[in-house]
Amino acid sequence: MMYTYRELADLLQSHGIADAKTEAAWLICKFCGADRAAILTNGQKKWESAELDAAVRRRCERYPLQYIIGEWEFFGCTFRVSEDCLIPRPDTEILVEEALKILPQNSVICDLCTGSGCIAIALLKARPDLRAMAVELSDTAIKIALENARLNGVDDRLILLCADVLADGVDKLKTLMAQENIASFDVVVSNPPYIPTKDISTLEPELAFEPKMALDGGADGLKFYRSIVKNYTSVIRGGGCMLLEIGADQARDVCALTEREAVVIRDLGGNDRVVRISL
Ligand code: GLN
Repeated sequence: MMYTYRELADLLQSHGIADAKTEAAWLICKFCGADRAAILTNGQKKWESAELDAAVRRRCERYPLQYIIGEWEFFGCTFRVSEDCLIPRPDTEILVEEALKILPQNSVICDLCTGSGCIAIALLKARPDLRAMAVELSDTAIKIALENARLNGVDDRLILLCADVLADGVDKLKTLMAQENIASFDVVVSNPPYIPTKDISTLEPELAFEPKMALDGGADGLKFYRSIVKNYTSVIRGGGCMLLEIGADQARDVCALTEREAVVIRDLGGNDRVVRISL
């Protein structure tokens, strides 16, 4: 098939894709080797390639653009993404910003449910003085996180641990901390799965292609917060804190899981997005 930029945008829009113009430009850039300026100024030019055809077909099935392109930007860093990990969301950048505001020099952080590694890696890249451990259950996601750490030049300061945050993850983490001479973390960060199981199928069709284990927070969406708040405060130093991304309607429930001081931080859209629990 051959498409002008406009024709491709119209096709994507007819399949329910909201930001169709931006996505049309992304696809032409990636699969016809064009740059954005050339696409926008050559409105009549017909673009074609076998790769573009395959990508457009997939995108019209609402397969995520990020997986088609194979990489995505988060907090100014490039991350490789695949069906093995959640796509990093701009909503999560607020958690990174909050962490950067409070982390003292030479802090050691821990990222639970790291997925692509985006939170830990963005923090390490922004602050060369930091070190991190990151925990993830999926071994295929761990491989992506490692690749992303290398891509962003922070792999010498990140230790990845394959473990289940809901089961014996905390014990494995403590063993690893002892081996690495880390007495405690300054901050534990996490964007755990938090969608109630029954809600997953009602969301945007793209989410059907993301790993269910990265989205599913159990019957009430709070399964991971319960385990994290109960088990992981023990690895944080006094005066440190925990920063948890939450769904927009979960602030009250997550704050109720602890007796410690809990502060809710909103995102740019005005939604509750992060809970900070201080130790
Ligand atoms: N921490 C990763 C992210 O924020 C993965 C989160 C997850 O799998 N729930 O994108």
